[in-house]
Amino acid sequence: MAGLRACTRRDGRGKKQLRPSLRRIWAQHPVKAKKCGDHVLPKLETVVKDIVERLGAREDRGTVASYIPELAKVSPAHFGMAVVTADGEMVVAGDADVPFSIQSVSKVFTLTLALGKVGDQLWNKVGREPSGNPFNSIVQLENEKGKPRNPFINAGAIAVTDVLLAGHQPREVLGEILRFCRFVAEDDSVIIDEHVARSEKTTGFLNTALANYMKAFKVLENPVEHALGVYFHHCAISMTCRQLAMAGRYLAFSGKLPGRGVSVISAERARRINALMLTCGHYDGSGDFAFRVGLPGKSGVGGGILVVAPGKASIAVWSPGLNPHGNSVLGSLALEHLAKSMHWSVFGD
Ligand code: GLN
Repeated sequence: MAGLRACTRRDGRGKKQLRPSLRRIWAQHPVKAKKCGDHVLPKLETVVKDIVERLGAREDRGTVASYIPELAKVSPAHFGMAVVTADGEMVVAGDADVPFSIQSVSKVFTLTLALGKVGDQLWNKVGREPSGNPFNSIVQLENEKGKPRNPFINAGAIAVTDVLLAGHQPREVLGEILRFCRFVAEDDSVIIDEHVARSEKTTGFLNTALANYMKAFKVLENPVEHALGVYFHHCAISMTCRQLAMAGRYLAFSGKLPGRGVSVISAERARRINALMLTCGHYDGSGDFAFRVGLPGKSGVGGGILVVAPGKASIAVWSPGLNPHGNSVLGSLALEHLAKSMHWSVFGD
């Protein structure tokens, strides 16, 4: 009500009228605008299409990841975006239906499953602080006795995978992760790209070092090869922006799949995962992402980013060119524009 009041004022006869500035905008965009608080919101579809059209023309798109040879084959020209809102409206633009390697975005799903399995005990093995270091760094592990800083750096995600392995074979755990992705995406066509998984395995020397280091400190309880095998495969899950945006809904809407009344996790757990995405989801670029976009997000070196506008929307973008922190250049810019245009930053207007 306060928002509506701010948009209106009473005329000489005491009747409510739109403020003159809003009336002007309303007249120019009769079906494109919505009111929200003091703001006239543009139509989401117009914003998304405009972002993909304008940013799609940019030359400076960063560099495609090449340390995983299979990822180096992906064209930097791809750019897609999908946004799904609380009422189920799905807005897509560009390459929103082209599958890509979700890489570290999968760490959000494994974290969700591990918390479901062991609850807060997970935090005995993995911390909850930003690392301020690259995603594959080993430097903090020595000082901190093999306990990774957070579940989103590689060491943390390998430790989370190890928790999922307790009492299970790697194949069962992979099945569980894939089933979860298909369930939250409401799409059984989500797959693991075996070529990417193999490519990562053959070049995963740093991840192998991280896993061995944690094993030496007894942070990993299962065979190193099992933890790494499952980790490489869940990073190789392939999804489209449309599927990924659908999969993020439980985080955007307090643990539930809106419209279906299905509760995936508790609202408290969703809030906490979002907090970790905000503080750690972009590695040593997390501060800058929060500064520019102001929304919880998780990036992957495949160039995808899953972002949550709590209560408003679940968003996925994909553009394979990365900045030096391993985060999509166009993807981050697109999200900055989207959050600004829709007034979705969690930090306010
Ligand atoms: N699979 C990648 C790796 O282990 C994930 C890194 C990422 O997406 N930031 O290096």
